[in-house]
Amino acid sequence: TATMQLAVQVARLGTRFVLLLAEDRTEANRLDEVRRDFIANISHELKTPIASVSLLAEAIDQAADEPDRVRRFADRLTVESARLAHITSEVIELSRLQARDALRRDELVDVDRVVATAVDQNRVVAAAKGIEVALRAKSRAQVYGDPALLGVAVHNLVSNAVAYSAEGGRVGVGVVVRGDSVEIAVTDQGIGIAEEDLERVFERFYRVDQARSRNTGGSGLGLSIVKHTVQNHGGEVRVWSQPGKGSTFMIRLPLAEPPVADDGTGGAGG
Ligand code: ADP
Repeated sequence: TATMQLAVQVARLGTRFVLLLAEDRTEANRLDEVRRDFIANISHELKTPIASVSLLAEAIDQAADEPDRVRRFADRLTVESARLAHITSEVIELSRLQARDALRRDELVDVDRVVATAVDQNRVVAAAKGIEVALRAKSRAQVYGDPALLGVAVHNLVSNAVAYSAEGGRVGVGVVVRGDSVEIAVTDQGIGIAEEDLERVFERFYRVDQARSRNTGGSGLGLSIVKHTVQNHGGEVRVWSQPGKGSTFMIRLPLAEPPVADDGTGGAGG
């Protein structure tokens, strides 16, 4: 009968509703877990530098009469506290990005300029390793977004390329327009990344080689910041790599305006 049919339908809908709720619950649990992991990871990452700082402070105290040792300890204290500051600011940056209120500014960004600045910021460190960074940024591309955040993202890729290259290696950075996107590619001839690690390098705190990465001062957050920044700008980041040969990381962002042929009319004046 009609009533029966209605009852069955209501029951069916009811089941679906419950299932949807259950899915919601699972998602909420998963997010809780991610959040717990994140905090556990942060605590773990901070423990070592905090311990070093207090040990060094103690050592300085005990070496008070020996200026040479005091100076040596003080230098290391500076390094460790810089590391603490670095991790803390990356954590703050990442949680902001994840909160999606990340684009504090949304303006026309000159991509060539952002990339050139990020490369310049890495030149001193690169030169110290005898690494030349070749830059080709003449795309004239513009995207909408936050220039500071985009700068950090490109900076992270370039500093990784330098960090995971051998002395005397070469790093190439290029900006090209392709269709209605701009592509920023950072290529190195460094240690490369094994296939099984490729997908995971964008995860928070993921490091292929914990010891080596810690020596380079990395926190394992750099690429995760790149990924979130690029996604918040409606783009994507990809990686190709071959162990022992090198890696290419590529950021693709939607152009603010699709490229137009220069017809000399100059657009809507003013
Ligand atoms: P980190 O601060 O450790 O560099 P990232 O999130 O920037 O953290 O990178 C995660 C891991 O991915 C690194 O620890 C390293 O193992 C690997 N990786 C990133 N960039 C490169 C690269 N250009 N060449 C080789 N390995 C890389």
